Amino acid sequence: MEGLLFGTGGVPHSASKPKNLINGIKRIAELGLGCTEMEFVYGVRMTDAEADLVANTARKTRIRLTAHAPYYINLNAHEHDKLIASQDRLLQTVHTAALCGAADITFHTAFYMKDNPPEVYTRVKTILAGITAEIKRQNKFVSLRPELMGKVSQFGTLEELLNLCSEVEGLVPCIDFAHLHARSGKYNSYYEFTSVLNQIEKKLGRAALDNMHIHVSGIRYNKSGEMLHLNLRESDFQYSELLQALKEQNVKGLVICESPNLEEDAMHLQETYNKV
Ligand SMILES: [Zn+2]
Repeated sequence: MEGLLFGTGGVPHSASKPKNLINGIKRIAELGLGCTEMEFVYGVRMTDAEADLVANTARKTRIRLTAHAPYYINLNAHEHDKLIASQDRLLQTVHTAALCGAADITFHTAFYMKDNPPEVYTRVKTILAGITAEIKRQNKFVSLRPELMGKVSQFGTLEELLNLCSEVEGLVPCIDFAHLHARSGKYNSYYEFTSVLNQIEKKLGRAALDNMHIHVSGIRYNKSGEMLHLNLRESDFQYSELLQALKEQNVKGLVICESPNLEEDAMHLQETYNKV
């Protein structure tokens, strides 16, 4: 992949009506952005025929697609049926995302549920090894990307993700820099962003920096971590310094903007990146 592509998490606000994914992809192309994340966050409600249309539109407009799996996934659920449902939701996302031509699937892995984090890690790792093996068996060319999470009650610290992705074949991280900042209040300067990129390269190799999946937004947080997403310029997030670090390390891949104003901040990120 060449360079970084910028886009929105969800259909842009300025898409023409009906505000569906197809019109969203067309709007992304009109705005000069490069990618968009399909939000299956409340469930995968797309037929195979619709997925074919989406794939066609993305191909024609040369827009790269990724998918966000449903929020209702917890690979550390204590009830057996919730655990099975979580795995089913991930595999449904894999099926539809692959039909749409998306290469990456982002998901929220688990809650600690007051369990010991190392135990949660082992449980999650075992399940994800099974799911990635199933994706391989189905011959689907999609990568699962556990997301770096913003609340301290959620599994998915930088360290957990890097360990998980180095130990489970077929897993690559989704680095949400706003969440990383919200979790600790730190990670908000050029030097800290650079150190994160260095850690990723050290643990997963240069290939990881050549195919990154990044989430960015403004964020409000407290001692429990993430409270809500904000527009970049209403937050304390030092996105210019992040973009500078990404540029200097020649990071490649997709930057998905999850600010409430979506395309406005996605375009601002792209313009700022081109200038730094
Ligand atoms: Zn997410």
